[in-house]
Amino acid sequence: MSKTHACGKYTKAIHAGQSIDPLYGAVSVPIYQTSTFAFLSAEDGAAKFAGEVKGYKYTRLGNPTVNALEQCVAELENGHGGLATASGMAAISTVYMTFLSAGSHIVSTGSVYGPSRIVIEKQFSRFGVEYSYIDTSDLSNIEKSIKSNTKMLYIETPANPTLAITDIAACAAIAKKHGIVLVVDNTFMGPCFQRPIELGADVVVHSLTKSLNGHSDVVAGMIVTKNAELYKKIQAVHYQMGGTIDPNQAWLVLRGIKTLPLRVEKSAQNAMEIAEFLKSHPAVTSVAYPGLKSHPQHELAKKQMSGFGSMITFEVKGGIKAGKAVMNGVKLAALAVSLGGIESLIQHPASMTHAGVSKKDREDAGITDGLIRYSVGCEDASDIIADLGQALEKIK
Ligand SMILES: *Cc1c(COP(=O)(O)O)cnc(C)c1O
Repeated sequence: MSKTHACGKYTKAIHAGQSIDPLYGAVSVPIYQTSTFAFLSAEDGAAKFAGEVKGYKYTRLGNPTVNALEQCVAELENGHGGLATASGMAAISTVYMTFLSAGSHIVSTGSVYGPSRIVIEKQFSRFGVEYSYIDTSDLSNIEKSIKSNTKMLYIETPANPTLAITDIAACAAIAKKHGIVLVVDNTFMGPCFQRPIELGADVVVHSLTKSLNGHSDVVAGMIVTKNAELYKKIQAVHYQMGGTIDPNQAWLVLRGIKTLPLRVEKSAQNAMEIAEFLKSHPAVTSVAYPGLKSHPQHELAKKQMSGFGSMITFEVKGGIKAGKAVMNGVKLAALAVSLGGIESLIQHPASMTHAGVSKKDREDAGITDGLIRYSVGCEDASDIIADLGQALEKIK
């Protein structure tokens, strides 16, 4: 058991998986920027490949810097082990590849991160994988969708951009009853506020690109499993498929994680203030934030999350034109997709990410023309509110 196993999240974020470098005493984990590792002898190489002796062989099959990151995130999630990947999508695709075969069926949250759904509909379907995309925040939909060939229940909570919440513990009970694997995309909340494995999930996936790295300068992903059996199963696929993270990227994420609890707490505190401000603003017709009592699943949010996150979506009066006016009016927030960074980002799906989707399909997914998504950063809440306030004045 690691020395930080029983520690709190602040300690884990700084120390888990990381120890003083035995060679020179470096306090920061060294970046082992190497593709391959020399063996001490022919016998040593043979023993390492046979798995009789522990040791690194080739970076696709493990690297000390990458391993430090994997242990750190696994401990933060209270899971058995982690597998770091080149992107969040590499993590998700590897998990799909592990559990889905020709004739398998997956049940998943309809409003998952777009590519998580598209890769099933466009690629895995070519190999005979069947799918049902449903509103998993209503548990009865899940029971109705499970078939004899269902192998995976895949959920994302809170969902994007509606921030609808799915009951993780209830999903774990359903998955257990049917003998299927429960996978949770925990990118939105992160391990400081939500730990799906503690609630019964089998596998957690992350885009480390978002709050874990937190500085909008790396693309990376992670898979965490609840036990050794699942870890070994996914590890084999990961090593063969090759969605390996680069050691330098792994180190950047490891550094970002050191301040993860501090950043997510500050941004969640900001988000609460901003949500209250938006709620009382005359140009805003609705605000979705799990921390607001008006959120339809506020009670469930309180039960399974220990914070409410940094994502707010709100609706302005005046449709596309008003949405664009706010985009062009803000000065502090950058107009960009992605989320969870230390800096605030703003996005207008109807004119940006979802402009190519028909108005009807957008509305079916809960994306109205005046909907704005705000990823709250760690600036002063008063500055963000002042910026949003002056941008909302631009709506005429
Ligand atoms: C960004 C994101 C992903 C994909 O991660 P990449 O690092 O961009 O590949 C998956 N799920 C969620 C919820 C995300 O926000």
